[in-house]
Amino acid sequence: MSQPRIVVVGSANTDLVVAVPHIPLPGETLLGGDLSVVAGGKGANQAVACARLGGHVTFIARVGDDTYGENSVRGYEKDGIDTRFVLSTPGTPSGVALIAVSATGENSIVVAPGANARLTRADILAASDAFDQADAILVSLEIPADAIFAAVEEGFARGKPVLVNPAPARLLPPEILAKITLLTPNETEAGFYGGVEALQQLGVKTIVTTLGARGSVIVSLGATPLFVPAFEVSAVDTVAAGDTFSGALAVKLAEGASLPDAVRFASGASALKVTRHGAQPGIPTRAEVEQFLAVQ
Ligand code: ADP
Repeated sequence: MSQPRIVVVGSANTDLVVAVPHIPLPGETLLGGDLSVVAGGKGANQAVACARLGGHVTFIARVGDDTYGENSVRGYEKDGIDTRFVLSTPGTPSGVALIAVSATGENSIVVAPGANARLTRADILAASDAFDQADAILVSLEIPADAIFAAVEEGFARGKPVLVNPAPARLLPPEILAKITLLTPNETEAGFYGGVEALQQLGVKTIVTTLGARGSVIVSLGATPLFVPAFEVSAVDTVAAGDTFSGALAVKLAEGASLPDAVRFASGASALKVTRHGAQPGIPTRAEVEQFLAVQ
């Protein structure tokens, strides 16, 4: 089939990562390892996942007018992403995540949203031709509420499948929840919304809850819940596991796959991701995932 067209709406960040002997205490100054500068941000991770896994991606986001933003956009272009709507924001820094990783694998993360906090409803509406052509819309929540709502509404108004990865978890009004085709919370996020049953009562049609190394559960109205186990791999970095999972689902569903088939593909893609370091650098390609699944 021809490449499915996916509109991805969400955040673009640069992760500044330092290994530390322990998470710093209040007032403590620590010497860490060398700085790693890694492309991240949930929206951008999902856009890169969709592109590497076979989608034609239009990414809608805001970066600052600084080198982090410029380098991020260059990275998206290398992955073949349409960046016409990755908007530069004068006088505003790009989104940055300051991440300390301890020797025991604990994280301490401070996110400075920067330009992500300036993404507006008008920015989403300006991309209406991309919504017209899309086979699926994928939205995550590290951006202002107005932009989230506009993205869901634009997809719904055109009868397109609207996938929402509710990360970080935040309140969504019932009229927005009712327009979501598929929600992909992790366990913590599902709990934030009061559980899968509560979400269904609010009108979310289908929910795929991810359970980390255990796998995921598909719950659709009127159907028996289906547990899909994760693949056994040796994990080195679980950052962007959920983003890879959601991106993979969007591509497969836009190609017309059944939901269980799409979830198996997403499980394979995210299993490969966790065997590699970094957010965007660790996201696998379609060929790698197909090769991996063929030998399972
Ligand atoms: P998030 O990153 O959003 O918290 P999860 O941790 O639930 O999401 O991971 C998303 C998916 O990634 C899981 O459903 C699973 O398929 C896969 N995954 C995550 N961790 C592992 C792991 N250690 N081994 C294999 N697959 C994993």
